[in-house]
Amino acid sequence: TYIVTDNCIKCKYMDCVEVCPVDCFYEGENMLVIHPDECIDCGVCEPECPAEAIVPDTEPGLESWLELNTKFAEIW
Ligand code: SF4
Repeated sequence: TYIVTDNCIKCKYMDCVEVCPVDCFYEGENMLVIHPDECIDCGVCEPECPAEAIVPDTEPGLESWLELNTKFAEIW
């Protein structure tokens, strides 16, 4: 799955939402999040994010961001 990280906080761009083929972006408290079970790992959103906030969960040290994405995506 891909994960939205801190660069997204208070970002107003919605480019990622527009390109995601499965609509798996959700509103968090002050940023967007990706639903980890709905993301199909296509990678389309990553280069579209002007804030470079979207990263694959294969990068190290992202456990807390994955938790936050999961928490806010599953509220809906
Ligand atoms: Fe959506 Fe693809 Fe980005 Fe996952 S990697 S959030 S499916 S655009």
